[in-house]
Amino acid sequence: MAIVEAQKIRKVYGSLEVLHDVDLSVREGEILGLIGPSGSGKSTLLRILDLIEPPSGGELSIFGIDTVGERGRWLDLRRRMGMLFQRPIVFNASVYDNIAMGLRYRGAPRDEIDRRVKEALEAVGLSRYIRSRATDLSGGEQQRVALSRVLVTDPEILFLDEPTANLDPGSTATIEAIVTRLNRERGITVLISTHDLAQGQRLAHRVAVMIEGTVAQAGSPREIFHEPKDQKIARFVGVQN
Ligand code: ADP
Ligand code: MG
Repeated sequence: MAIVEAQKIRKVYGSLEVLHDVDLSVREGEILGLIGPSGSGKSTLLRILDLIEPPSGGELSIFGIDTVGERGRWLDLRRRMGMLFQRPIVFNASVYDNIAMGLRYRGAPRDEIDRRVKEALEAVGLSRYIRSRATDLSGGEQQRVALSRVLVTDPEILFLDEPTANLDPGSTATIEAIVTRLNRERGITVLISTHDLAQGQRLAHRVAVMIEGTVAQAGSPREIFHEPKDQKIARFVGVQN
């Protein structure tokens, strides 16, 4: 079953059409890699799929709900998703407070917050930093704190926009291992964008390739990397291989 179903999505900024007729579906339980050159529209598409911005046209259903006709349900839908961006977002407060904040906002009781923050920190291997100031941590650790803040709210789907683009190889491997485990053990559906083809190959069950504002091909990693549909895709998957 598709948990996200986008059809003919368009996005226009001023006179510039950045996304054209994007079709994409994300199946429940999969890790879908969204690969494509820088500037191809990955971040713009993700901001639309995770309901940060509305599309200029097209259809988008999430969890089977039509989001275009139902703006009033966006907040509820967003609560079922988690997002992580290229630049880790952490606040100048303790790691604990950084992670607890979403739960406090939702009015969870104190002992429940305590338990869930500890679990979420364990899941990213940062329990020992619970009292540290989040902004003192390394970039890779900050990204894990940000991921932990997302996990504590128990999302059904994770949208990750180049989450390791600014990280060293060690931190990248750690984040990849966590994402794989969350998918395998908790069944969380993952949509991860990356310009790193090797990362796409390592993580994704299926891959969608964005070229110049549209999804040019979607399929198994085998299909994408061995049977690219056209020259532009071939050039993109070939250049870095
Ligand atoms: P990617 O994430 O694949 O690098 P982006 O989605 O960031 O690509 O950008 C795709 C194109 O859309 C780029 O040409 C970028 O300049 C343009 N773009 C993105 N956001 C905006 C915006 N808010 N206003 C105008 N143009 C934008
Ligand atoms: Mg981007």
